[in-house]
This record gives sequence, C-alpha cells and structure tokens, in this order.
Amino acid sequence: MSVLIVGTTALDSIKTPTKENPRLLGGSASHAAVAASFFSPVKLVGGVGEDFPKKYIQLYKKHGIDLAGLQILPGKTFHWSGEYEVNMNNRRTLATELGVIETFQPKLPDAYRASPFVLLGNIAPALQLSVLDQMQKPKFVVADSMDLWINIALTDLLKLLKRVDGFVLNDSEAELLTKEDNLFRALKKIHAFGPKYVIIKKGSHGSVLSGPTGNFICPAYPLHTVEDPTGAGDSFVGGLMGYLANARGSVEKNIRRAMVYGSVTASFCCEGFGLNATVKTTRKAIEQRVKELEKLTKF
Ligand code: AMP
Repeated sequence: MSVLIVGTTALDSIKTPTKENPRLLGGSASHAAVAASFFSPVKLVGGVGEDFPKKYIQLYKKHGIDLAGLQILPGKTFHWSGEYEVNMNNRRTLATELGVIETFQPKLPDAYRASPFVLLGNIAPALQLSVLDQMQKPKFVVADSMDLWINIALTDLLKLLKRVDGFVLNDSEAELLTKEDNLFRALKKIHAFGPKYVIIKKGSHGSVLSGPTGNFICPAYPLHTVEDPTGAGDSFVGGLMGYLANARGSVEKNIRRAMVYGSVTASFCCEGFGLNATVKTTRKAIEQRVKELEKLTKF
C-alpha cells in the first residue's frame, strides 16, 4: 500500500564543527519520503520555488516518489540553515526563510485522496489539517511536529491531535507540550490529547512507544561517527510509515518492528550530510542493521 507524505521540501545549509554544506536537499517531507521509499510507494505533497534544482527532482524520481502533489510555485524554495555544536546533538537554527511555504496551500491530486497511510510531516499544523480534510478515509494517520508549532500554533496542533492515530515528537518537545519532565507521565498526557499511539524520540538514545498493547523501547543503531543528524527524526518516521504501509496485518501487530526499521533508516541519514548517505543505502543494508539490532537487544 502507498503512503502519502506532506511536509517541507527544502534547501538546507548545514554547518558542523568541521564542515559546511550549503543548499542541500532537505525538509521534513524529503527526508521522510526517501526513507519510506525503501519499503513502499510514496506520494509526496509539497511546494518548492522556481529555484529548486532539477537534480533534486531527479533524486525524488530515482526513488520512485510520486510527484503529482509537488507544486512548483513562483518564488523561492523554503531555506533552512542550522549549526551543530561539537557534541552533534545540540543544534541552533541560524535562519529560516519561508519563501513559497508562506503561502503554500496543499492541493491533493484525486489519485492521492484514497491513500491508506498518511504521514503529516513537520510543517504548520494548519497545513497538516488541510491535507487531512482532503483525504477520503485513511487507515492510519501519523503526525510529526516541532517546538515552533507548540509555541506559535498550539490551538491548531491540539485540533490536529484529536484527528490522528499517532503522534511522534522528541523528548524536549514532549516536555514543552506537557510540562512533564518524566517521559512516561508525558506519554500519558499526550494520549489525553487524542492519539492512540504516541512515540517519543530520544536522539541517539532511541525512542519509546506507548500504544494499546503497552510500551515498547526501541534502540538507536549504535553509530561510531555522526556526520550530520539533520533529518534523522523525519527519516525515522518515514521509515516507520513506509514499513507499516507494506506490512501485512494490523498496525498494532507491526508497529514495534516498524519502529526498528525507522530507527535503522535514520542511522543511515546521520552518516552523511543532508540525504547524501540515505540515498546510497539499500534495502539489503537496512536488513543487515535490523539483524544487528535484534542481536544487541535479545536477552
Ligand atoms: P530533524 O533533524 O528531523 O528535526 O529535521 C530537520 C529538517 O526539518 C530539515 O531538513 C529542515 O529543512 C526542516 N525544517 C526546519 N525548520 C522547519 C520548520 N519550521 N518547519 C518544517 N520543517 C522544518
């Protein structure tokens, strides 16, 4: 089955303590779509400007991503730049130039409306709601978000949470949203906002799921070197949704394994700038790391 993915389609300028790379393909939807494409067909919803490099369109196409929902709009592509500290965990946003995203209105092609799996990647909650309004009857909807929307668009975000099956956020965002510094109390509070499945990501410490059959603790793949973690969260949720869309049986049965596949896909993302390492990986390499994680966590 296919997964519909909405989010930002961006140009990212990324600085680490040792390297700097301007205007790479980035954005929540780009990272999630490429990650999901290892497992299932992907339908992308997004907006780019006339300056968006053709080679990035080719990259989406190489991954079999359906671009009927990608609008090319007059103006500039969303541009984000950020800088990492030496520990590669703390990140500072240097600039966010919205460009065409400021007025972007997602319009779903008819062929997209029946997609069974929907990933509302990180973008303004009003736009995530607009995509949901255009869907027929999706089987499983997951939303991602960030601290910015908790701070400036909480009303829309809470409206959205009433309508999704799953919500994914990182530990500091969970604390910001719930005012709870205990992860398990935060999970409980987020369920009360609506979602049946809540996943809190903890960067290199993995992630925790709370769902109808209890909690699951998912490890991160142990990397010795991180080149650039930008997009790891989006790759995690993209891989997770791609895996679920392709798996037989219920979401409940498959979601733990889907998290492990998401986690492994995100590990590849961290090994190169932007999408450089993700695009070079293969399903075989993903399976290999899943096996390693299985060995590491069996007791
Ligand atoms: P992550 O590292 O998983 O948090 O995702 C980083 C990606 O989010 C980058 O590729 C950025 O282009 C994108 N991004 C940065 N700021 C925003 C924003 N305000 N809304 C949506 N996406 C953003």
